[in-house]
Amino acid sequence: MAREAGGEPARTADIFDPSAGQVQRRVALGGKAELDQAMQAALAAQPAWAATNPQRRARVMFRYKELIEANMQNLAELLASEHGKVVADAKGDIQRGLEVIEFCCGIPHALKGEYTTGAGPGIDIYTMRLPLGICAGITPFNFPAMIPMWMFGPAIATGNAFILKPSERDPSVPVRLAELMSEAGLPDGILQVLHGDKEMVDAILDHPDIKAVSFVGSSDIAHYVYSRGTAAGKRVQAMGGAKNHGIVMPDADLDQTVNDLCGAAFGSAGERCMALPVVVPVGEDTAERLKAKLIPAIEALRVGVSSDPDAHYGPVITAAHKQKIEGYIQMGVDEGAELLIDGRGFKLQGHGDGFFVGPTLFDRVTTEMTTYKEEIFGPVLQIVRAKTFDEAVELPSAHQYGNGVAIFTRNGNAAREFASRVNVGMVGINVPIPVPVAYHSFGGWKRSGFGDHNQHGMEGVRFWTKVKTVTARWPDGGFDLPRGSEDGGPARLGDSFVIPTMG
Ligand code: NAD
Repeated sequence: MAREAGGEPARTADIFDPSAGQVQRRVALGGKAELDQAMQAALAAQPAWAATNPQRRARVMFRYKELIEANMQNLAELLASEHGKVVADAKGDIQRGLEVIEFCCGIPHALKGEYTTGAGPGIDIYTMRLPLGICAGITPFNFPAMIPMWMFGPAIATGNAFILKPSERDPSVPVRLAELMSEAGLPDGILQVLHGDKEMVDAILDHPDIKAVSFVGSSDIAHYVYSRGTAAGKRVQAMGGAKNHGIVMPDADLDQTVNDLCGAAFGSAGERCMALPVVVPVGEDTAERLKAKLIPAIEALRVGVSSDPDAHYGPVITAAHKQKIEGYIQMGVDEGAELLIDGRGFKLQGHGDGFFVGPTLFDRVTTEMTTYKEEIFGPVLQIVRAKTFDEAVELPSAHQYGNGVAIFTRNGNAAREFASRVNVGMVGINVPIPVPVAYHSFGGWKRSGFGDHNQHGMEGVRFWTKVKTVTARWPDGGFDLPRGSEDGGPARLGDSFVIPTMG
């Protein structure tokens, strides 16, 4: 059974209902003792799981997919109640994770090795892709379903055991996801959820039997996890924060672009690493036309509780985060940006304690401003005006983050040049949030990603496995091969050879 281990009851974290602004439950925070216990179960279970043929492991994924689909509504409501995103967004969060599970249903194909016959006289070479052993994932609050599934799907399908340390701010959906894995037939000890904060993360990074760690969260912590984990000899991939730019060319379809910007900047209250919080119109005329359309569109956005089916977005995760975002808005004013729409002090009727921030729009933001350099992670859109296409390419390229970027244009040549020149990991062409599908891979550059392998797709398979290469020569063993039957018919080597059942 998937295990949820608690910690010393003395250390707990509050889990809020962000729409109400109230604590709804607490989670016990664990540390080394809980990890050691989970590791015993993982170490005992993993060899048999690794030896289970890939087709059988894939069958667990097929059953899991059905269970997630059957539980979509209640998982989405639970997710929305702890995170604050609206239920439709919560379903998207689960769906994008589920697509990685669908990829994992084909894991036998992805694990096929390479083979060369006749690499030398009588020599054949083949590779095996093998699990690493026990692996771990540390996940952020903002995608409590998708990001755990990005990690544990391929890690488990390739034959590893997995310890998941979800965000302590919305840990209930990750626990349910692990319980459903048990229902799907995953053996005990292969997927375990451990709750905690820095103490648990450090225990994971220092544990000698954990071979690989995947992290997604803010950049300073990503860098810390990468440094400490690799120093301990582990394989580490650590995805960090972001500040994605949307370039708007003079020929862009502005109605479509404004619609896309509203979704990408304000959806999920801007708490997405692939949000578009910076828009870069090219030329003054484009900037003015864009601004004229953006203001009414943003003013029409509906902020509501996470269960409101008509709301565009809900509250942010905590009161502290709301305060931080409002602090950035004040900083933008102090730095001299032009505040066109101010979302501070937003109160939703009947939910006065909820952690809501109204949509906010700044114009004339410049590259020297701290509010431009840093990730705000809230419903704040900043207009940075560029004079030329080259300047527009340079802005995201020079920024410390390099997760995603988008260009809005009808000019294929400009789009193509932009995609090849821009120094960012994921590019959208008239696609505001270019999160690659599950069979491609996800990963940003610069301070948005530390390590060599991206998430999911074949990159995920490579991250969670190691390659063994066998070079084989079969010399003449000194016995005669039967090369033909007495009556001159074919050899009967396979007379008693029966193909065994693989499944
Ligand atoms: P966070 O960095 O605060 O937390 C992420 C994880 O690290 C959590 O599990 C948390 O318990 C743990 N943690 C927190 N403090 C720690 C410490 N001092 N030492 C060790 N571990 C610690 O991030 P968050 O606020 O949960 O998530 C939002 C951030 O994640 C944003 O910066 C966002 O851009 C980023 N993010 C990035 C991606 C990506 O793919 N690049 C995806 C989603 C979110």
